[in-house]
Amino acid sequence: MSVHSPLLTRSLAAVWHPCTQMKQHETLPLIPIVRGEGPWLIDADGRRLLDGISSWWVNLFGHCNPRINEPLRAQLETLEHVMLAGFTHPPVVELSERLAALTGHRLGHAFYASDGASATEIALKMSMHSWRNRGRPGKTRFVSLAGSYHGETVGALAVTDVAIFRDAYAPLVRMASTVPCPDARLASSGEDPVDLARRAASALEACLAESHDEIAALIVEPLVQGAAGMVMYDPEYLRLARALCNRYDVHLIADEIAVGCGRTGSFFAWEQVADSTHETGGDWPDFICLSKGISGGYLPLSLVLSTDAVYDSFYADSSARAFLHSHSYTGNPLACRAALATLDLFEQDDVIVANRTRSALLGKLAHERFGSRPEVEHLRQRGMILAFDVKTAMKDFSTRFFRAALDHGVLLRPIGNTVYFMPPYVVEETELRHLINGAAAALDAALV
Ligand SMILES: *Cc1c(COP(=O)(O)O)cnc(C)c1O
Repeated sequence: MSVHSPLLTRSLAAVWHPCTQMKQHETLPLIPIVRGEGPWLIDADGRRLLDGISSWWVNLFGHCNPRINEPLRAQLETLEHVMLAGFTHPPVVELSERLAALTGHRLGHAFYASDGASATEIALKMSMHSWRNRGRPGKTRFVSLAGSYHGETVGALAVTDVAIFRDAYAPLVRMASTVPCPDARLASSGEDPVDLARRAASALEACLAESHDEIAALIVEPLVQGAAGMVMYDPEYLRLARALCNRYDVHLIADEIAVGCGRTGSFFAWEQVADSTHETGGDWPDFICLSKGISGGYLPLSLVLSTDAVYDSFYADSSARAFLHSHSYTGNPLACRAALATLDLFEQDDVIVANRTRSALLGKLAHERFGSRPEVEHLRQRGMILAFDVKTAMKDFSTRFFRAALDHGVLLRPIGNTVYFMPPYVVEETELRHLINGAAAALDAALV
């Protein structure tokens, strides 16, 4: 790749890139992408990169998918946008109804925004305001899990426990309480992930027992904590957490921004909790946040689904009791149309079932290639997320691996020493092999 490409120079001069120390681009070249095609990204030199992390976890059905492009084009010719206060339009109604149906009508009220962090903020504000409307104004605090990530705006940082995102802004943030995460890797000998889930739930119980009068909600990333490094845990924790929240009058917010939309093997990760025959199974969260994959990775869209009980607590004559929150692009018709096309793909291609074969193959290939490598530990998988940790003292492992993977035609971007795979749901066997082979070669190259 040509480092002197004018586009790169102009990008570095005029674009402040996200989550980036810009100075590192003195040595690490930007990659100019000019085209996307299914799971592939094509750069300015015609090099093809397999998008092994779905472009930061958003792209579900490949780039430039004709089955999303076509309805989006039609929507563009019909209605591009209208404000959603006092107005409505077919795509937002249809999308809200279909999402409600996917929760079995347990969470039948959809509130829209444009990015994940805003969905978190909406859920936090709604929870606290709902308690206040019900005569519990003292419930203004939140609880989140160690290592949790719920976005990076000032409100969302309150429930985000990732030091690198939070520390510089600590003076601005009113931190939530943090309870232990049932990270399956932390099991002591003789303990299994279920024991660990129970141990973490007792810590949650102690926290709620002491402070439930002040706590509005517990917020969790169900089954997998993404930004913490694909930390996986047993659904038993969520069952117990749901029961504890019921007992102590605390809302449960499921942040499914990363794990929703089929990523963990069911449309909502929570279905793996609720489907259980366990006595508390069947209980859903009070709020579900969705973003990332919901628009197929096409347009910024997020939403918070909530229950009748929450909705009813705002329904009154007084506007002070209403949820007076808005964003200019709330319910944007183009974004909603992309989401409807995404839901159509799930239905028409029976994607949840088809992905079982895909994720089984991903698991098999990864176990063959990495299962017995001495530097690899905690190889783990939940649906279409697979991850392992690399034992190395190298400080720059992540960057070295990323660069080496590019040389082998794959886009993978480890979080610290955790290498993870989160491919779009259109990868075929040859592409999965390319992905795993590329990762194996990158691991060799990074560790020399
Ligand atoms: C990405 C993410 C967010 C934040 O979404 P943005 O659109 O980046 O603001 C929140 N929660 C989880 C679990 C996420 O993975």
